[in-house]
Amino acid sequence: MLTLALSKGRIFEETLPLLAAAGIEVAEDPDKSRKLILATNRPDVRVVLVRATDVPTYVQYGAADLGVAGKDVLLEHGAASDAAFGGGGLYQPLDLQIARCRMSVAVRDDFDYAAAVRQGSRIRVATKYTSVARQHFADKGVHVDLIKLYGSMELAPLTGLADAIVDLVSTGSTLKANHLVEVERIMEISSRLVVNQAALKLKRDMLRPLIDAFAGAVRA
Ligand code: ATP
Ligand code: MG
Repeated sequence: MLTLALSKGRIFEETLPLLAAAGIEVAEDPDKSRKLILATNRPDVRVVLVRATDVPTYVQYGAADLGVAGKDVLLEHGAASDAAFGGGGLYQPLDLQIARCRMSVAVRDDFDYAAAVRQGSRIRVATKYTSVARQHFADKGVHVDLIKLYGSMELAPLTGLADAIVDLVSTGSTLKANHLVEVERIMEISSRLVVNQAALKLKRDMLRPLIDAFAGAVRA
């Protein structure tokens, strides 16, 4: 049995065409069912639905053989699990080029970010991505106080919780609707295929064709 970990929403939707290229169809619609384990047209392949941030954990421990996770999630997961795991357990064979966006710094449109940086002020930054943000500002030599949030980062500068946020941006319309402006692009983000390293050896005959089909679909 192969177990694939996906999160509901854009990752699930955007992975479906890749699965189709491998001849796999998910038998149920996650929006119409409360099931967390979904069968497919292949008796030896199933999908488990987990939170986006939990995908690397499922794959690392082998509860799922493979999964799809954003680079944002993988970077934060790696930073958190390196000490415990030596970073091991997760093989990343493919950039699937789905769920594309960028990680950026944004501030209120009346906040002079460039001046704050120039003056060497301490900047309060709210984000879900504390590891990536810490590294980014350290590389730039900007002093920051990081505030960890789990969602709705846009609210932080509007309420005075923070001067800036580090968040994912795709069209920029959410920022605009909240009077925020993007002042720095940190990195491009897309989702990656992650495979459990032990599974790659033990279930190679099942995994290889799947990885190859995904790779072919990404190139097409
Ligand atoms: P939830 O929205 O349930 O709190 P989440 O934000 O972790 O969870 P999604 O919104 O489905 O889950 O995001 C999953 C992945 O998709 C993210 O880790 C990121 O890589 C990518 N992503 C997030 N926002 C966007 C976006 N606006 N456009 C494109 N890709 C995005
Ligand atoms: Mg989200």
